[in-house]
Amino acid sequence: MIGDSHHGGSGRCVVLVGPAGAGKTTIAHRLIAAQPLMRAFSVSHTSRPMRAAERDGVDYWFVPRATFEALIDADAFVEWARVHDNLYGTTRAAIAHHLEAGRQVIFDIDIEGAGNIARAFPDRTDLVFVTPPSWQVLVQRLQARGSESDDRLRRRLRTARAELEAVLRQADAGVPWAAVVNDDLNQAVADVETLLRSPPGTQRMPAAALTRLQSMRADGVADVRADPEDPAR
Ligand code: 5GP
Repeated sequence: MIGDSHHGGSGRCVVLVGPAGAGKTTIAHRLIAAQPLMRAFSVSHTSRPMRAAERDGVDYWFVPRATFEALIDADAFVEWARVHDNLYGTTRAAIAHHLEAGRQVIFDIDIEGAGNIARAFPDRTDLVFVTPPSWQVLVQRLQARGSESDDRLRRRLRTARAELEAVLRQADAGVPWAAVVNDDLNQAVADVETLLRSPPGTQRMPAAALTRLQSMRADGVADVRADPEDPAR
């Protein structure tokens, strides 16, 4: 599921990971709007159906599953993953020209993809975990979307909890994760801007962010909605 690392240029991969409802997409668009010539969004391919507000080639390249699988066989992807039964992936073609032009490429992908991008582009990847201020706010934001069925809400909360656990485990093992708490959007965008002023991959998770993520994880484990049948509970 991982590509090679031989891409030229001096660009940088800025990988935003975090639960649905954390505001990654909004932050990504704000970052690009602030510097449209030197930043670009990594437009992933996906086999999932397009949602009403989405645009092909802007939010994703929407392709039939068979086309996605043919792209895998043709080794077109730097990374790809199965998320919630659909396939998602980053093609070399989507990002290579931006990196060669020295741009900052903003990714909105899952945690598995983030690890693969960091391996494919060592020394020029920033891993940024974007999180709501608390587990309760995460639940509220997802419920406020209104479009979520109970099953879907539970699944998203389960994924959120798993990603929290993974990011804490990785940070503990020395993977250079930064964390941005999206309580106030302007502040969250400013926090990402600040870390982009340092060389790629040099940020570490501040102790306060670590504590916050740990307490979110504890609340997530205690929340029956996250997974009523999880044997690990
Ligand atoms: P959604 O279907 O809600 O747009 O995205 C579902 C999940 O897939 C999100 O966590 C999103 O970040 C992730 N995702 C989107 N594109 C990619 C990709 O190219 N690669 C990987 N690994 N995950 C992706």
